[in-house]
Amino acid sequence: MSEPQFGEVQMHVVKPKAPVIGRIVESTPCMKGRSASYVRHIAIDVSGTPLAGTFRAGQSFGVIPPGENEKGKPHAVRLYSISAPTWGEDGKGCVVSTTCKRLIDEYSAPDSDEHHLFTGVCSNYLCDLKFGDEVLVSGPAGKRFLLPTEPSAHNYVFVATGTGIAPFRGMVGELLEHPDGPSGSEIHLVIGVPYGTDLMYDDWFRDLSERHANFHYHTVISRPDVGRRMYVDQYIVETEDPFHRMLADERTLLYICGIEGMQVGIYRLLQTLGVAGSYLKLPEEGLDLAEADHSVIKRIKPAARCMVEVY
Ligand code: NAP
Repeated sequence: MSEPQFGEVQMHVVKPKAPVIGRIVESTPCMKGRSASYVRHIAIDVSGTPLAGTFRAGQSFGVIPPGENEKGKPHAVRLYSISAPTWGEDGKGCVVSTTCKRLIDEYSAPDSDEHHLFTGVCSNYLCDLKFGDEVLVSGPAGKRFLLPTEPSAHNYVFVATGTGIAPFRGMVGELLEHPDGPSGSEIHLVIGVPYGTDLMYDDWFRDLSERHANFHYHTVISRPDVGRRMYVDQYIVETEDPFHRMLADERTLLYICGIEGMQVGIYRLLQTLGVAGSYLKLPEEGLDLAEADHSVIKRIKPAARCMVEVY
């Protein structure tokens, strides 16, 4: 079977140094219940700007936060994964969206008692914006984390941790809610979060899985009230059917998005299943991923059927 093609993609149509003004048209919590985290689905109208109609599902856009950094320079652009399909939230590619988690952390200095709340520069700013507020945006960015040009020629395993779910909301929506009719491809989405209440867009994904027999939604909880801790890679190892069959099928495309380091477990499981060479560019002399250092594994480049976005 030939390698997947991803087609033309537009990049940096609007540069961060000359951003355009977008307008917030939605900001709603997108988690399942009360949680220690706060994640919002934020939609930004870019109609009338050069950004309109340029982005594809899986790409990112930039937000330029107001203010200056500690060196007195304007803050640099921050990238956010697009959580809308290619036709946007409005069906015309004019409203882009993302899945934004508030950053809440404690800064503590080594060897001193200094400690204070650290809230970062951009995500809380973006989450604070209200309907109608203006925001400076740029983009699109990203040329590989995309759906193929012939979506029905493939099956899909989407693996996310936390807000890494963002691009999969757009991609699953694009596959199943396409104006020309839903895709018949086999689609599995695996999402790993700390608690059940952290699941994002959960009702929407469940509803889709009830309406489409070819779409399967798998939730993996790492800190359950009862039972074993589980990570996405472990879940895939243990859920032999359908994952082992699917990963061995050359029609399958594997997408990985989320926390840095999650690819280590997944790359190891690919080797355990004997399919690492189908998804990864491994050195000719071979590499035992079970023995290899994490830093070595993280530098392995994905091959044509594997798309990775982690940070
Ligand atoms: P989160 O809510 O903390 O959830 C992450 C989940 O992954 C937790 O259940 C965590 O378990 C688990 N986990 C930790 N280490 C893992 C590993 N090595 N393998 C598998 N699972 C692991 O996530 P978040 O705060 O939203 O963070 C998501 C990350 O994704 C951020 O770093 C963000 O920058 C990144 N992200 C990337 C993109 C992109 O590249 N385009 C887009 C969106 C988000 P425990 O905490 O219980 O150990």
